[in-house]
Amino acid sequence: MSKAFASSLDTKNFAIIDGYAKAVSVLSRFHTPLCSISGGSDSDIVLDVIQNVDEKKKVRYFWIDTGLEYRATKEHLNDLEKKYGIEIERIKACKPIPICCKEYGQPFLSKYVSEQIMRLQMHEFQWEDKPLPELLEKYPNCKIALQWWCNAYYSPENGVVKMSRFSIGRNRWLKEFMMANPPDFKISNKCCEYAKKKPAKLLIQKYDADLEIIGVRKAEGGIRSASYKTCFSESKSKGCNSYRPVFWYTDSDKKAYEEFYGIQHSRCYTEYGLKRTGCVGCPYNPRVTEELEIIRKHEPKLYTAAQNIFGDSYAYTRKYRAFQKMMKKKTKENTNA
Ligand code: SF4
Repeated sequence: MSKAFASSLDTKNFAIIDGYAKAVSVLSRFHTPLCSISGGSDSDIVLDVIQNVDEKKKVRYFWIDTGLEYRATKEHLNDLEKKYGIEIERIKACKPIPICCKEYGQPFLSKYVSEQIMRLQMHEFQWEDKPLPELLEKYPNCKIALQWWCNAYYSPENGVVKMSRFSIGRNRWLKEFMMANPPDFKISNKCCEYAKKKPAKLLIQKYDADLEIIGVRKAEGGIRSASYKTCFSESKSKGCNSYRPVFWYTDSDKKAYEEFYGIQHSRCYTEYGLKRTGCVGCPYNPRVTEELEIIRKHEPKLYTAAQNIFGDSYAYTRKYRAFQKMMKKKTKENTNA
């Protein structure tokens, strides 16, 4: 039994013990693992687990500089290197976030919503409330986004069929809001692709990696964790497999790990009081307003940068939230009348 696995037994926490057993087993099967370090709290635990089980020192570590990163995160990476005696390779984004937003558009609400709006904008959509078959005829190469817009899909056998998943209806009154206030700036989901996904893919190719280790937890919620069913996914094309060592950790398992192994997180958590880190001021964060207040206080230059890069999206989101409130009030009044 390895030293690390033995020490995990002392925690008496099943998720931690099971996680260590899995980590030992997964690492033994791969030759060139790459571990993504974000500087966030989940990533800190992943790094600690991997360091404790990687007896042959075969795991490489990397961090992607998206072009919009906290100073505290960069300092934390230096601390992690010292603590574990490792090197964390700093990778530049294929296109940093500020350039992506300028070139393709700003993220708004969520990845899926941004992608559909981007497609509609590319076809010069007029934000009109018409039946799906009519819109499909007018904008023939924009089927998925039009389905999203119409909350429906079309089949020759059944005609127009209502759908609730992947539809604009999942964001209450967004369609009504957009028809009344068409966006006058470009919206896009491209910055995740060029600042995060592509640089990681290129690194996997460079090292011919057979395993990518990432810090995703099921309990974190959101589209990122929802896109995985379990802690390991085998590559379909015999390429790089994906492993998430803390996937099954609940918030209390995470706390238990931090206390037992004495994990120190970055100043983003301990000093700034942020609940999560990532790209500074990302408009997908539903609590971005609170986050921006914290950024203004602790990293004022980054606050100004975020306002310059995402300012249109922040303003549009505020307007949408006010619209939602107004519609809610109106609906309530009509019901009570
Ligand atoms: S997380 Fe947000 S800011 Fe960061 S790359 Fe993705 S959309 Fe852009």
